[in-house]
Amino acid sequence: MLSKRMSFLHPYVPGEQPKDRDYIKLNANENPYPPSPEVTAAVNKFLSENPEKLGLYPDPDSGDLRAEIAAMINKTGGVLSRTLTSFSSGSDEHSIGAGSIECASCVPSEKDKIPFTVFPDMIYTGNGSDEVLSFIFFAFFDEDRPLIVPKFSYSFYPVYCGFYNIPFCPVPLKKDWSVDGEKMVFEANKTNSGMIFANPNAPTGIGLPRSLIRQMLLAAPKDKAFVVDEAYADFGGESCIPLLQEFKNLIIVRTFSKSLCGAGMRSGYIVASPEVVRAVTTVKNSLNHFPVDAVTQVACRAACRSAAYYVNCAKALVEEREKFTRFLQDCGWEVLPSQTNFVFAKKSGVSGQEAYRKIKEDGILVRIFSTPGIEDFLRISIGTPAQMLALQRSMEDL
Ligand SMILES: *Cc1c(COP(=O)(O)O)cnc(C)c1O
Repeated sequence: MLSKRMSFLHPYVPGEQPKDRDYIKLNANENPYPPSPEVTAAVNKFLSENPEKLGLYPDPDSGDLRAEIAAMINKTGGVLSRTLTSFSSGSDEHSIGAGSIECASCVPSEKDKIPFTVFPDMIYTGNGSDEVLSFIFFAFFDEDRPLIVPKFSYSFYPVYCGFYNIPFCPVPLKKDWSVDGEKMVFEANKTNSGMIFANPNAPTGIGLPRSLIRQMLLAAPKDKAFVVDEAYADFGGESCIPLLQEFKNLIIVRTFSKSLCGAGMRSGYIVASPEVVRAVTTVKNSLNHFPVDAVTQVACRAACRSAAYYVNCAKALVEEREKFTRFLQDCGWEVLPSQTNFVFAKKSGVSGQEAYRKIKEDGILVRIFSTPGIEDFLRISIGTPAQMLALQRSMEDL
């Protein structure tokens, strides 16, 4: 009864979501902070004032949301934790949950300024960046040549290759666990192929500087899609958005799930040339006409107007990450240098399974991978200070 193509499917296994106990969840890189109060207010207002809108189809192309995403990018430079260096200190309005600060102060640093305006026709929105990625795979990668991917990266990429029957070429990481840009480009030129990687990369947490990615773009095939998944760029990485004018084959994927505290809202987007956006829209209109529901559009629009709040969340997580990294190092763990909201760490003499089980017994979930080469690493999402304290207690005697 099953179709032949079912045999190509090897589904993604997400971080576990057990229901038997109230675990502290540090296994899916979710943001521990709630969305901004403006998001909650906007959703409440929408549901109380326009309940009949739930009975109507939403705007299929999320026009207003795309405009607000473009405005947020233009205001912040596209990366949150590197903006707002001009915060005055000592005022409690900076604390998380205290509402948003006038976004006039969201000034990108000189280095992160985008040398052009991002227009709404450069934005595509979808039902989570996982869906957005799948549409990109359909629109730009063929069955006749391998897609170039890092050997260790987001494990959904090979899953989509199976789904669309696209061969892929895994390129080993460098000795320091960073993506090997030179080797990626070399392989891409060998087969005239497109490529995809996360920057900063997952599960390693290591990012490449924009200057290096520009060198890659200069040397890679110009007529093949070059996809950079910036799910974690807001936690200290550099965005490639400033390169979009120079490279029409560059496709940047973003999500509301990590830095914008919205994993439950399911919203992700593309920043790319209008031609790319049109192609992905064609795929969308051939599969699921209305990917972003009405409530999510309202919530995400409010999130875009609360950039200052999310800057504070990102900064709090970065600070906590650095503290936790020092703790792990003091306990003898090897911690890769992270630019994300998680750390990737291992300790010689302690197996991944053993560490994972001990931490789970103490009521905390972290992520391990069975892939040979990284099976002894833990990927630990950064939570609130209280959650991280509980984790430190659990890990102290490992
Ligand atoms: C979390 C994550 C995504 C998926 O985000 P959603 O928008 O929740 O689907 C995509 N890419 C990477 C690298 C991620 O870590």
